Amino acid sequence: TETFRALMARKTDAGQAIAIETITEADLPAGDVTVGVEYSSFNYKDGLALKGMSRILRALPMVPGIDFAGTVRASDNPGFAPGDKVVLTGWGVGENWSGGFAERAKVKGEWLVKLPASLTPRHAMAIGTAGLTAMLCVDALERYGITEGGDVLVTGAAGGVGSVAVRLLSRLGYKVSALTGRPAEADFLKSLGATDIVDRATYAAAGKPLAGERWHGAVDTVGGTILANVLAATRYGGAVAACGLAAATDLPTTVFPFILRNVALLGVDSVNCPTPRRLAAWTRLGELLTEADFDLVTREVTLEDLPQVAEDIIAGGVRGRTVVRI
Ligand code: NAP
Repeated sequence: TETFRALMARKTDAGQAIAIETITEADLPAGDVTVGVEYSSFNYKDGLALKGMSRILRALPMVPGIDFAGTVRASDNPGFAPGDKVVLTGWGVGENWSGGFAERAKVKGEWLVKLPASLTPRHAMAIGTAGLTAMLCVDALERYGITEGGDVLVTGAAGGVGSVAVRLLSRLGYKVSALTGRPAEADFLKSLGATDIVDRATYAAAGKPLAGERWHGAVDTVGGTILANVLAATRYGGAVAACGLAAATDLPTTVFPFILRNVALLGVDSVNCPTPRRLAAWTRLGELLTEADFDLVTREVTLEDLPQVAEDIIAGGVRGRTVVRI
């Protein structure tokens, strides 16, 4: 039996323990497609998972990792054949099904997306769940009629979702402001196309139900009081795409932005995003992002680094996207 390396999470009396182990395919769930994982990535949810927060890991023992990309090794699914380059994000993989932090993964073929020709597995993981979510947020704003030229705000801008959202929106011709708690990342954000940096502190304290009308649209990755203040500062007829909870899960707002300014709050989920919309988003990501973008937003780590990366991402200290070389 062939063995391979995996980061395994196992149940302990204290909760869970994480360690690199040598396992076999018998340790993985019975999916119909086996993938040789080349790259995974590290998202905020992986940080919660590895730290045992929010009960993310629900199938212990299991391999965490909500994203992976690589090459199909074996398939009982008519849609996939050995050699296909594929990416997986979401569908509960890395939560209730073994995921990407291993040299192999076995999953249901219906969860896989064939990579657009312009994207390598490494590119796909530079994007990952975070980048897909950024694309879905941009799509949501566009569907609502928030189009190029508009003043848009991205919160949590120096993080994974935020940095890709800044890059996508600026490339599409929006005027992008980046809200960050890390002034040292201003140059990074400007290199991604932000024209204005907004200090997180100006949105961090509870504000008035309605503030001056500033934003045509926004992508919010943090929730809480910041999201409430963004809604209060959204212009008549504008919209905010909300996808995250890096600051808080509550939303201390009022109805006024909605009923007096026709503001829309657009919810965005990537985990169970229907396949047609998901395929369109991957295709569009492949068209919009360049090699230089991937270099700019990405750093690379290995399985050994992940416990520390988990600490860093929950502390809000990770810049852009983290790819994991498997
Ligand atoms: P990330 O790389 O850690 O980015 C989060 C950013 O939020 C941080 O870099 C930081 O940006 C800001 N932040 C962190 N703590 C904060 C706090 N206490 N108050 C205000 N801002 C804070 O994480 P990510 O992977 O991009 O994910 C971002 C969020 O989106 C997470 O909540 C994640 O769970 C969510 N998400 C949701 C979906 C979905 O399907 N709905 C998919 C992916 C991610 P600055 O330093 O620039 O302020």
